[in-house]
Amino acid sequence: MYVQHQPKDEERNTKHWESIHNELKNEFGIVAYKSWLIGLKIYGFKSNGELCLSLPTEFLKDWVVNHYKKKIEKLCKQYFENVKKIDILVNKNSDFVSLDSLQSIDNFSAESSSPLDPRFTFKNFVVGKSNELAFAAARRVSENNLVSFNPLFLFGGVGLGKTHLMHAIAWDIKERDPKRKVVYLSAEKFMYEFVKSLRYRDTMSFKEKFRSVDVLMIDDIQFIAGKESTQEEFFHTFNSLVGQSKQIIISGDRAPSDLDGLEERLRSRLSFGLVGEVHKADYELRLSILHTKIEARKDVVVDDEIIQFLAKKISSNVRELEGALRRLVAHSELVNRPINLEVAKQLLHDLLKVNDRKVSVEDIQKKVAEYFNIRYNDMISVRRSRIVARPRQVAMYLSKTFTPKSLPEIGRMFGGRDHTTVMHAIKKVQELCKYDPSFAEHIKVLKKTLEL
Ligand code: ADP
Ligand code: MG
Repeated sequence: MYVQHQPKDEERNTKHWESIHNELKNEFGIVAYKSWLIGLKIYGFKSNGELCLSLPTEFLKDWVVNHYKKKIEKLCKQYFENVKKIDILVNKNSDFVSLDSLQSIDNFSAESSSPLDPRFTFKNFVVGKSNELAFAAARRVSENNLVSFNPLFLFGGVGLGKTHLMHAIAWDIKERDPKRKVVYLSAEKFMYEFVKSLRYRDTMSFKEKFRSVDVLMIDDIQFIAGKESTQEEFFHTFNSLVGQSKQIIISGDRAPSDLDGLEERLRSRLSFGLVGEVHKADYELRLSILHTKIEARKDVVVDDEIIQFLAKKISSNVRELEGALRRLVAHSELVNRPINLEVAKQLLHDLLKVNDRKVSVEDIQKKVAEYFNIRYNDMISVRRSRIVARPRQVAMYLSKTFTPKSLPEIGRMFGGRDHTTVMHAIKKVQELCKYDPSFAEHIKVLKKTLEL
């Protein structure tokens, strides 16, 4: 079933395999590579174009199949001409490999904290309306040895600076007091460490390790949604640290109350301290982020026209904005002349297309909920109280204005309401706009933010 290879092939395959390992290391970072991928071996080539790879344990195999298989397959197809797909199996007999990967896992556990990005400091964080609360809270936590709110929970969409703020807190605390033990890690890594401690029947040292820190930061908490035993363990760690007045800082993609798949007691614990939202950057902040990043690199000049164009068009998140700028700068260095608008449009074609997408009813619901300070879930809930009913009507009205959806469709997206309810909402909003100038002003502001 497996294909015999000539010695020359053998040599070439070994080379390719090394390159694949290197690419994996680059792509996923040294920590992930050492934890999961280092023991990945070629088991054999099948005549039907399938390449069998092996890992030493069932656990590793499951993880790698779920998280990395696509990329591995892509690389294998790229490097080995005849490979059409891959399969990963467990090869317990390869002691050499398993020893190797166990060792690497142990090295890694000595250092539980993930590395901090040196660029993610307070100094490099540009503050604007959308993130000033989160920023102030982050500063407060890092300046104050006395725990004033616990936990600090930062939430918001992707690429808006949550991780940046967390790293900044860690840097700042380390600088002020190098003796304080700050541990920063993703919820995913927390889970991995926990599962590993179960596997090695070593939960005691896991508990000790996490309960002896001064500051614990867990990034992207939404990852442990639905993972009950990890949540349970996290809950205990959490309580133990709070009990010792140690600071906890958590980030998530949603507010604690909206985190589905999280146990109620944990959810309520998470909203116990200060919950700060990092909103999408508005136009002014996007501009000032671009200016800051350009100034930081003394060697580049970018036309104001281009900067404004980027700030206007790339509104989804700061990561994409940075990426766009980086691409333009790289290109202008390559061709050794400044970029004009036409070239910028070509170079950013793909990013512009994504950012050009029309507003969805969901976007509108979120924006309006945010604006009136109600929960997103209230948009679709049955609650009738005025506090939520009026914003809901506003969102229905804006949905009709900004999307091509029909009245029944809109009704359905607001918790299955009737089209007459939507009609009524639209009339009501139009009426209020006529007679109540302050209401009309709210609508104007909302329309503007949706247009940006
Ligand atoms: P998140 O964790 O919210 O997904 P990140 O913290 O990883 O987002 O931020 C994505 C990128 O955008 C990072 O390179 C970060 O430095 C940058 N960034 C985000 N917000 C700001 C800001 N206000 N000022 C400067 N850079 C920012
Ligand atoms: Mg992040």
